[in-house]
Amino acid sequence: MNTRPLYFDYAATTPVDERVIQVMIECLGFNGNFGNPASSSHAFGQQARQTVENARRQVAELVGAQAQQIVWTSGATESNNLALKGVAQARGVSGGHIITSQIEHKAILDTARQLQDAGVAVTYLVPDAEGLITPQAVSEAMRDDTFLVSLMLVNNELGTVNDIPAIGEVVRGRGALFHVDAAQGAGKVAIDLAQWPVDLMSFSAHKLYGPKGIGALYVGPRAQQRLQAQIHGGGHEGGLRSGTLATHQIAAMGSAFALAAEAFDDEKKIIVALRERLLEQLLSLPGVRLNGSITQRIPHTLSLTFSEGEFNPAALSHSIAFSATSACNSASNTPSHVLLALGHDAHLAGRTIRLSLGRFTTAEDIDKAVDLIKTACASAPAFWATGL
Ligand SMILES: *Cc1c(COP(=O)(O)O)cnc(C)c1O
Repeated sequence: MNTRPLYFDYAATTPVDERVIQVMIECLGFNGNFGNPASSSHAFGQQARQTVENARRQVAELVGAQAQQIVWTSGATESNNLALKGVAQARGVSGGHIITSQIEHKAILDTARQLQDAGVAVTYLVPDAEGLITPQAVSEAMRDDTFLVSLMLVNNELGTVNDIPAIGEVVRGRGALFHVDAAQGAGKVAIDLAQWPVDLMSFSAHKLYGPKGIGALYVGPRAQQRLQAQIHGGGHEGGLRSGTLATHQIAAMGSAFALAAEAFDDEKKIIVALRERLLEQLLSLPGVRLNGSITQRIPHTLSLTFSEGEFNPAALSHSIAFSATSACNSASNTPSHVLLALGHDAHLAGRTIRLSLGRFTTAEDIDKAVDLIKTACASAPAFWATGL
């Protein structure tokens, strides 16, 4: 009876791959690669530096970038802060306009609010019915003083994929910089920064079988001279992000990204098959529907609304670990801003769950989860109405 719930929350975080854990451990102890990568005068530092630069190349390779365009950060939250605040502050003038969307991660939305307080005008685009931001919507929102557009590659609640290359063309055409939060997209969508008209892109290790607390920001040639550091002290990372490089975290992120590149095609096939198995069974239930585009999506992340009959996500969470998107803004206890932007009311948002699959999901997990969900749909807990 002491078993853990089935894990269906890979979009929140992934376990670290055992192979990545090994790489990480080797950078910690006295017999390992523990040196300070900035200690260039001796072998310990030189070895650590080599490891850091190797990892930088591994991250760059997954996304078609050059190694020197990758800046290490503490995660996608910091990368997003550096991109938005860094670009706004480097302009050296107040005012101006940026464009983002209503369905971005809080790491973008809260940062955009900060810029608003500092006098930057912000447009929050509304997604279409499919949960997508269209190039046309971006085009219509562009102003003469728009200096930055920030949109996500893959939405963390819906799994929908924006057409970033097409949007990038629009942004480039108007001379603004384009930042993309790719925390949910790296390793799942084929990203080619050598071709894509994108200037800044945020990554996180812990969404891709690496550890928490490490991420990166891609800084392309157009953004290089238009980005102000947010953390000062020593001038690491070309002056863009100071602080002793966390060799173990960085090596682990590099390893995780290299493994993702290696597994890309096979993993996609496996997840698609698991997704089909899950959806076939769940969409046959009355009143169950998938939120967001059916075609423009990754297979890993599924937002499902159970609009009919009895359904109690809270009871289900003892046996399945998923994200109850109604509780997404748990601090404020308000419904998911993403679902509201899609036109859900609080009631429907409260009957929506996000199931996200990953590397360690099995067909058996899927079948067990389906059985548990079917049972939850059939039962009628009296306390359901208070669950909103
Ligand atoms: C997880 C996530 C983040 C935050 O990443 P951290 O590395 O945890 O700071 C930002 N954006 C999106 C879309 C995410 O899914």
